[in-house]
Amino acid sequence: MIQINQPQLSAGTLPTKIENPSTAPAAQIYSPGTAEFRYWAAAASLERASAFWSPLLPGVKWQVGKVLPVDLYHGEDFNAYYDRVGLRFFQGQAGSRTVYSCESPDIVCHEQGHAILDAIKPQLWDAASIEIGAFHESFGDMSAILCALQVPSMRHDVLAETSYSLYSNSSLSRLAEQLSWAIRQGHPTLVEPDCLRNAVNAFFYRDPNTLPSNAPATSLSSEPHSFSRVFTSAFFDGLARMFQTMPAQDEPNLLQVSTDMGKILIAGIRAAAVVSTFYSQVAVKMIASASSLFPGPYADALKSSFIKHGIISAASSQSIHQQFAMGITAMAAPMNESHDLPKMMIPVQEYGLGSDSIMVHSAVEPKQFNITGAALDVGPLQPVSEELQAKAFLEDLIRRGKLKAANQSEVNYAVKSITGSAPKVHYHHTHELVAEGDTMVLKRMRIDCGLKHM
Ligand SMILES: [Zn+2]
Repeated sequence: MIQINQPQLSAGTLPTKIENPSTAPAAQIYSPGTAEFRYWAAAASLERASAFWSPLLPGVKWQVGKVLPVDLYHGEDFNAYYDRVGLRFFQGQAGSRTVYSCESPDIVCHEQGHAILDAIKPQLWDAASIEIGAFHESFGDMSAILCALQVPSMRHDVLAETSYSLYSNSSLSRLAEQLSWAIRQGHPTLVEPDCLRNAVNAFFYRDPNTLPSNAPATSLSSEPHSFSRVFTSAFFDGLARMFQTMPAQDEPNLLQVSTDMGKILIAGIRAAAVVSTFYSQVAVKMIASASSLFPGPYADALKSSFIKHGIISAASSQSIHQQFAMGITAMAAPMNESHDLPKMMIPVQEYGLGSDSIMVHSAVEPKQFNITGAALDVGPLQPVSEELQAKAFLEDLIRRGKLKAANQSEVNYAVKSITGSAPKVHYHHTHELVAEGDTMVLKRMRIDCGLKHM
């Protein structure tokens, strides 16, 4: 338990505002389990995330406007989401206990992470790509880890807990322990045995189009939270390796590494081309950013980690050096300053969606680095066409019940079965087919962090 000064949510360049409940309880010390405690716990997490990211993002504003609205009690569910209106948190019943997602600093900083990433890379929002959806989830978890490291007692505890070897199963690597307990009561296979997701894991990169749409937490699936674990573990391993390069493995240096990593991550994301193999593009731009911003061993530490986790292939290592030598650096301007990705028509007769073809936002920005993830056998993966990527994305949405069609009377069995199981309290679908003139366009409605990922 830590005691803090009263959080100031309106401070800084990325302010937030708790709109529900509409009035703040008096700022004083409250017992855990009370609504007043919950309010200030959520406020402290919101303030911590804004205070961490704001200095790294001068001039950046929320997609929703000047202030990011927050609803602590949006409904009954084990859930939380971000939807370009604000952050929404829920409460769920597990036995006699009510668990509130807003009470978890990991979940608050994860949700705020979605809003941060949307502010700096809005093109990702509508991208018809499984890997890009998963990267959004990974960024949420990376935000939770970096924000947790801003708390002095967390730095102290994690160093003691891991014997200074950061890439170990610890209270830092285990995300949302309390909420995962609640989910485990009814759905024991959907979460890890001790947390919602663990940033220390052995999942190796795969082309997500080849994965099943759903799987227990012990396996990798194309579900965004499940597949996000690959990038998060490479990031966390990279953070640990960066920390090992410091002259001493102590608390001030851990704080320093967390800020340096925040800068590298932001620079890497900003410079990365929005393509379906987004993980490898961000990774290579992070390595390039590390070498530009912090001449020294960080770049090699990150490269080792991204290769170990298969985000970039070992065979790419030489090519990265050659391309750096040719002067292709991370600091080149982002290639697409616009909000929108190019649109592409794809045929969809076979799904009976009420239209023979639909328009999707295609992840096809030109790449600076011709690098993909590692194949499971030898060498790099062979890239798949953008139309196939977009179709795989659509099919995955249908299989997981995350697509809502515009005209429900014309849709086929698959989509009817989805709407038939729609939740009573709020929406769970993430995408809709929206009519624009004569064209149906696939659009994202929200990033649902629904904690039962099935
Ligand atoms: Zn999320």
